[in-house]
Amino acid sequence: MQDIIEKAKKTHILSKNEIVKLLKNNSDDLFNAADEVRKNFVGDGIHLRALIEFSNICKNNCHYCGLRAENTNVERYVLSKDEIIKLAKNAVDMGFRTIVMQSGESKVFSADTLADILLEIKKLNPTPAITLSIGELTTEEYKILKKAGADRFLLRIETTDKELYKKYHPNMDFENRARCLKDLKELDYEVGTGCLVGLPEQTLESLADDILFFKEINADMIGIGPFIPHKDTPLKDAKGGSFELALKVMAITRLLLPNINIPATTAMEALKENGRIIALQSGANVVMPNITLDNVRKKYEIYPGKTSVTYDNLENKLQQIGRIISKDCGFRGDSPLTLNPSPLGRGKHPRKIKQARYLRKNMTPQERKLWNTIKNNQINNLKFKRQHPIGEYIVDFICIEKRLILEIDGGQHNYKKNIRYDNERTKYLNSRGFQVLRFWNNDIDNNLEGIIEKILSV
Ligand code: SAM
Ligand code: SF4
Repeated sequence: MQDIIEKAKKTHILSKNEIVKLLKNNSDDLFNAADEVRKNFVGDGIHLRALIEFSNICKNNCHYCGLRAENTNVERYVLSKDEIIKLAKNAVDMGFRTIVMQSGESKVFSADTLADILLEIKKLNPTPAITLSIGELTTEEYKILKKAGADRFLLRIETTDKELYKKYHPNMDFENRARCLKDLKELDYEVGTGCLVGLPEQTLESLADDILFFKEINADMIGIGPFIPHKDTPLKDAKGGSFELALKVMAITRLLLPNINIPATTAMEALKENGRIIALQSGANVVMPNITLDNVRKKYEIYPGKTSVTYDNLENKLQQIGRIISKDCGFRGDSPLTLNPSPLGRGKHPRKIKQARYLRKNMTPQERKLWNTIKNNQINNLKFKRQHPIGEYIVDFICIEKRLILEIDGGQHNYKKNIRYDNERTKYLNSRGFQVLRFWNNDIDNNLEGIIEKILSV
């Protein structure tokens, strides 16, 4: 098992079989590895997102959810525009840098009305990031909301097993959900998705497919929670998901998508005392405190136990496990560790940025030749950047998604002192999760094809 974990830590790639093996295994090594990768890639900061559940009205009938339209035991509500803006203002005053607006899927607000609300929230100081979690919309509606200031969108795929999806989502269509995620990516939202763990008939193979799906769409956030049966739903007698299995799915997701945001979900805490803290020690780096007022919070019962999860003493609890509350909006890649471990944070290392700009303008002929071949996603749709600062170094070419760096060496790299420098540099870059390929100027001049093959094979 250890070899699979080591491979995942190093390459962030696993096959479906390997994922299934990890899901079957019961050692803590997986959780420790996910915690280590979390620390290396996104650091010790915890992003707090203030959650406003602004309406529990839903037209859908997901078999697992307490808010489903056919559940007549729910007292339905919708907050007014002013109430939502007031809650958002309170959250910003309390120091939250992200507002998450969640609801059932309905048309209680048109996209234009929601856009007005977003525009008001964006006027708050400091301007918060806004995440929406309001279900499937048309491309046009997603566009309107993006334009009004929505930064992120959470839409769990729930399960990638199309048969199961159909069974538990009457009158919904897997392909449309996938279309929504694609639209959101194309519209430049930060995209969150995720799955329910422990649905009846769900297999470990299908959970492995879910994880591979997250990787394939290169999601920016992944929310994973155990399915908890609700008494007023068709799945009321189901066994429900286990905390341990949900934790494994989450930990493997961290290994494969090292620099994304992963919440310690409320369902984890609802199922197990201290579950949120355990999740934060097994790969998670986000908590979403619910700031909806108590009188309506009770009506947003998607599963039992949810409404009694509290956030008391959260800061102390985080401190006890050596974590700190992050002060930024927490976009993917914002962590100073993700790309640039300067204490000034990413993009704020003026000297390095200036130097990188200079190098970009003054590439060697060999660098230019390779750049002309790999730029604009020309090889296998891989996105390469050139002369990119990482920590105190500037690397020649980098594919962030694959965590691959290409370095071109001229003759001067043969000198003893330079060899030592290169080795230290490579060691540092490896420690940040990057693989470094070095090529000689000669190789570029005489065997460019061989180099491209090598890059592709890696
Ligand atoms: N209506 C929107 C949607 O479905 O995307 C957002 C709100 S919905 C209540 C948020 C999430 O709750 C869903 O994505 C689903 O995974 C989760 N959920 C629903 N019922 C659940 C249950 N019984 N146990 C655990 N999670 C559940
Ligand atoms: Fe509605 Fe979302 Fe619940 Fe499905 S999961 S019934 S879409 S609130």
